[in-house]
Amino acid sequence: MNELCPMPGCSIERITPDGPGYLHIAAHGTRPGGRCPDCGRASRAVHSRYHRRPADLPSLGRAVGVELRVRRFYCRNAACARRTFAERLPELLAPRARRTGRLAEAQGRVGVALGGEAGARLLQGLAMATSADTVLRLVRGLPLPEPEPPRAVGVDDWALRKGRSYGTILVDLERRRALDLLPDRTATTLAEWLRCRPGIGVVARDRSTEYARGIALGAPGAMQVADRWHLLANVRQVLERWLAAAHARLRRLPPGPGIPADARPGARIGPFRRTRAEAAARDGRRARWVALHEEVRRRHAAGEKLLAIARAMGLAVGTVRKYAHAESFPVPETRPLRPSILDPHLARLEARLAEGCENGLALWRELRAAGFPGAAKQVHRWLAERRTAPARTTPREWRAGPPAGPTPAGPGRRPPALPSPARLAWLLVQPPAELPAADAAVVTRLRQDREAASVAGLARRFTELVRGRGAGGKLGPDAALAGLEAWLADARTSGVRAVETFAAGLEQDGAAVRAALTTPWSNGQTEGQVTRLKLLKRQMYGRAGLDLLRRRTLLAA
Ligand SMILES: [Zn+2]
Repeated sequence: MNELCPMPGCSIERITPDGPGYLHIAAHGTRPGGRCPDCGRASRAVHSRYHRRPADLPSLGRAVGVELRVRRFYCRNAACARRTFAERLPELLAPRARRTGRLAEAQGRVGVALGGEAGARLLQGLAMATSADTVLRLVRGLPLPEPEPPRAVGVDDWALRKGRSYGTILVDLERRRALDLLPDRTATTLAEWLRCRPGIGVVARDRSTEYARGIALGAPGAMQVADRWHLLANVRQVLERWLAAAHARLRRLPPGPGIPADARPGARIGPFRRTRAEAAARDGRRARWVALHEEVRRRHAAGEKLLAIARAMGLAVGTVRKYAHAESFPVPETRPLRPSILDPHLARLEARLAEGCENGLALWRELRAAGFPGAAKQVHRWLAERRTAPARTTPREWRAGPPAGPTPAGPGRRPPALPSPARLAWLLVQPPAELPAADAAVVTRLRQDREAASVAGLARRFTELVRGRGAGGKLGPDAALAGLEAWLADARTSGVRAVETFAAGLEQDGAAVRAALTTPWSNGQTEGQVTRLKLLKRQMYGRAGLDLLRRRTLLAA
């Protein structure tokens, strides 16, 4: 019997079915005696017998309950304070446990994979039913693996609660497994962790100065490697920010060559330019909305609910949600060009302007006589873009420079809409040969803008440099270093502040950035671990604390 149903330290007396889904096993301990847990002296003097009823692993789809007859022994040591002690069955179950060790481990493993609620549901179907809380308690009871001392680790942050608190994950880059989770992302915590693991020679990290400091403190001898994945993300962010600022200008670029423009001479390609007063009012409105956006972001980051923010600020919930999730003030989409009551009169106006008439009021009177129902202001708007000299009524301080506001230029159709800055940033760093024709045309269109061409060119060169050293890259370390120096020199003198700032940051982090281009270490897999971590976190519905999350991460590794 014991060969079929191993029950270490016990002898099985009988196995009886007990209802359709239940098996009852009667057994008793077989050791000749026991040792007092206090003084350690052996004893065979039986004081009494009693029953324990632990659950065990299921058998043939049936839940198993064991009725275990165990003995209580006398301790005969006169110097010992203990009079009697219970028989121990260490291979089978812990003192006072209500399930055998092997069942506890099976239920705990299910909890590691699925968490408490889903784990309890699965265990019910596996004839090992227990509560979600017990599953979590058993996960806490599983011994943590003791990984071999790592030599190369990747460090990255992850959101405990997005926008509010962040933790740190450490990954063994050689063995590709999570090593630990830390409760914050401060230099002190990281330094402490590293100090306990002196064998670490390489630490790959993002570009945060806090981690850099932590590594310098905790593992001063280790080589710091700026992670290639983050370097690529950084350069794309720089490009995206620049594009967001320049988007209004870039939207007015004509389509690239090769795209038919089907031009109608004299037709407008944009709205009539606003007057200075209108532009100032528009800028004022925009500034107020930007301020509202920032206030929404601030409140959201502080944990206020969207609905509460909407009520407090008198905004629509949809607006609050949009703002809360937009990193920067959302750029309004371009509207399709709407017809104007001035359109039928444009040919006449062009002809009068060609004759040299720049008097807006006189032009308006002529149009009104011809049936134009609008106000003089509309004629002034049209005229403002075409004047060869400032109007006599223009105040002196505005006469020197060009007036503010968008300047629709040249005849032709209104240019097609431009993709979002994020999408453009992605397009611009791709190898042009790999882009589909429509995307390649967008890139060609943007390159008509000299600054855009320069920023995009630098971003792509940097991307190629970093990718060239990644998996499947063909760039040698020396060529990469030379490429980096040349790139830094060009970026420093690009005249674009965003790029110059990025280059200065790279130089400050010089050793780690050079290591990114000369060593194979990178945090790509750490990102994968963070993704798994997010999955675990979602499964637990935010109920379990960091300790349980850490256990599940390390046990699942
Ligand atoms: Zn004793």
